[in-house]
Amino acid sequence: MNRSTDLYVDGKRHILVADDEMINRELLENILCDEYDVLMAEDGEMAYDIIRENRKTLSLILLDLMMPKLNGLDLLSRIKEDPDLKGIPVIVLTSDQASEVESLMRGAADFIPKPYPQPDIIRARISRSIELAEDRQIISATERDELTGLYSSEYFYRYGEQFDKYHPNSDMDALCLDVNHFHIVNERFGMAKGDEILRKIASCLMTIFSASDCVICRKTADTFLVYCSHRDDYTSIMDKISEACGNTPTSIKLRIGVYASCDKKLDIRARFDRAKIAADLIKNNYSVSVSTFDEKLMENELFAEQLVDEFPKALAEGQFQVFFQPKFNITGDKPVLSSAEALVRWFHPTLGMISPGKFIPLFEEDGLIAQLDEYIWKSTAATISDWKKRIGISVPVSVNLSRAEMYDPKLVETFEKITSEAGITSKDIYLEITESAYVRDSDQIVDRVKELRSHGFFIEMDDFGSGYSSLNMISELPIDALKLDMMFIRNAFDKINDTRMISIVIDIADYLGVPVIAEGVETEEQYLALKKLGCTIIQGYYFSKPVPAGEFEKFLNDIKF
Ligand code: C2E
Ligand code: CA
Ligand code: CA
Repeated sequence: MNRSTDLYVDGKRHILVADDEMINRELLENILCDEYDVLMAEDGEMAYDIIRENRKTLSLILLDLMMPKLNGLDLLSRIKEDPDLKGIPVIVLTSDQASEVESLMRGAADFIPKPYPQPDIIRARISRSIELAEDRQIISATERDELTGLYSSEYFYRYGEQFDKYHPNSDMDALCLDVNHFHIVNERFGMAKGDEILRKIASCLMTIFSASDCVICRKTADTFLVYCSHRDDYTSIMDKISEACGNTPTSIKLRIGVYASCDKKLDIRARFDRAKIAADLIKNNYSVSVSTFDEKLMENELFAEQLVDEFPKALAEGQFQVFFQPKFNITGDKPVLSSAEALVRWFHPTLGMISPGKFIPLFEEDGLIAQLDEYIWKSTAATISDWKKRIGISVPVSVNLSRAEMYDPKLVETFEKITSEAGITSKDIYLEITESAYVRDSDQIVDRVKELRSHGFFIEMDDFGSGYSSLNMISELPIDALKLDMMFIRNAFDKINDTRMISIVIDIADYLGVPVIAEGVETEEQYLALKKLGCTIIQGYYFSKPVPAGEFEKFLNDIKF
């Protein structure tokens, strides 16, 4: 299935002629212009710029050795030392026999003597050098995937680029096709079955896209890439492929990411990155099999990348700040300030305030969260200490912990160090651990929580009700408070006005002998209803949004006087 012949039909290869003498340039152009697109450079530097700019499309360079600014031999060395350029064959133009050897040693493919020989000889040497270079390129990449017979990815990208070169006006789509949870197929039915399915998918793709307008490869185990002319409908294609794989013992679920009508200015790999981003978006969505890339998706992806890239600088420059939101005990006649929650805010110099919902999940994925949290915990401890000294009063402040931090064997040590350096105690800092952290590896998490509690730290289970922990498990958990997930409040008061779920959670907390904290309380109606139901502590906009430390002092002063 060598496509090289049909790739070249409607385009001309590009050749650069680098010679400072106009007469020579014109002569060569006349000889070559029927067959090739000829670019011209009149000195070494100009030649180098043109080569870099056209490195993806340039098929050959004709290089005069004597040129101003940068001489031919030096330029030749530069080209051959640059991994991006060294694959482009160079034919040296020279009248000096001694230089011929030198240039061949520096990597020239051939030479053409001056004065120039017959045009036929020149054309023959050029076309042979190009052929050799292209063959070499193709051989050097492992051409095919043994299992499916499709191209391997290196070869695929190169052919994709060549395809563009000779069909510059075709409207192309980049596709990334993936099998959901393929490892399960291998685990349940064995490798042989897995291989059979991959071969079926490959042959299906070859049938569907058999026209001469596409290139296909198997990228990794269960990921296929297709570069093809634009199509409007991929759903029916997916149906066909699923059908072909259908008589397998398991229902194989395929998904495809489509980057339609690619921007050809983008590197070919980047085009397939986009298709993959789209494909990954529906990874866990079993009802959809086609996902199309759009600019919004790219914006999100770029935004996420920017935040991760800028994190170290932001941390060093103090762009993160802790806000405090009060929690009130509502069991008496009047609500009484009982504690606070520390919530991080990022004050970005150009993007303004960024809320943690945008960056915490990213930092959790990239492992940056530990650095950020340590900074937040320290800064919170310093604020508590400052309040104690200046106002002579403080309330306990809870900080948030991410799941990964619960596996850190030094966690207790870290908190002991933070509290002792700030001159406060373990009674001053509470720890909020999200319920979902307990769901997997709960034994390890429970051990860590026990260790923290044995050192005097108070543990609040955050987002309770969102993590599906069983009643059975709850009763064994060493916790000091249950923090109701905000969704309970939303659902209970939205339309149905059904507070039964909240009652159940309060009963569980009573049974465990711990207080219930309701967060996200926004209205008087919610506050009164929760009070009636027996909820102990309330946090939410009804009392206050999270505020900077200075502003929070008003709550401390209120209880002081
Ligand atoms: P969370 O721990 O469940 O925090 C409660 C979130 O609800 C906060 O959002 C808070 O500002 C918001 N909130 C409080 N009262 C109300 C209300 O009445 N109505 C509404 N609509 N929202 C209310 P925020 O500050 O954006 O934090 C989002 C999440 O980010 C937090 O959820 C927490 O999981 C995480 N987070 C925040 N700061 C940190 C931190 O320093 N470290 C770690 N690891 N995670 C943090
Ligand atoms: Ca929290
Ligand atoms: Ca929460």
